[in-house]
Amino acid sequence: MEEVSLRRDLLEGILAYSREAHPKEAILLLRGWVEGGSIRIEEVVIPPLATHGLGFSDFNPYALPFDPSIIGLFHTHPSGIAEPSAEDLNHFYGIVMVIAAYPYRSEGDVKAFDAAGRELRLEVAD
Ligand SMILES: [Zn+2]
Repeated sequence: MEEVSLRRDLLEGILAYSREAHPKEAILLLRGWVEGGSIRIEEVVIPPLATHGLGFSDFNPYALPFDPSIIGLFHTHPSGIAEPSAEDLNHFYGIVMVIAAYPYRSEGDVKAFDAAGRELRLEVAD
């Protein structure tokens, strides 16, 4: 898998959610599917437990009900650097990790990674 795609309105929603949570970390579950060799994110789900203020590394995805439509996790880096930490990769869930970095203004602040920490191309569809 080399590419991740999502709609612009969904991206804008994710960025707005991130700005609202700042300076705390925000976490969202990503729902979607694999289509023609790329990962398509169709919607986001707020985790069942209130996670505002909970660090990503404190979040336990294995406490979630089994749901095969959850393909990965999104979280923010209030530090402003959209690179996965070793801890992020240890907590990798699903097939894609999306990280948004402060100031959460545009797709330029958002990156997607696979389980090996390799950056995937992010395609935003208008
Ligand atoms: Zn992180």
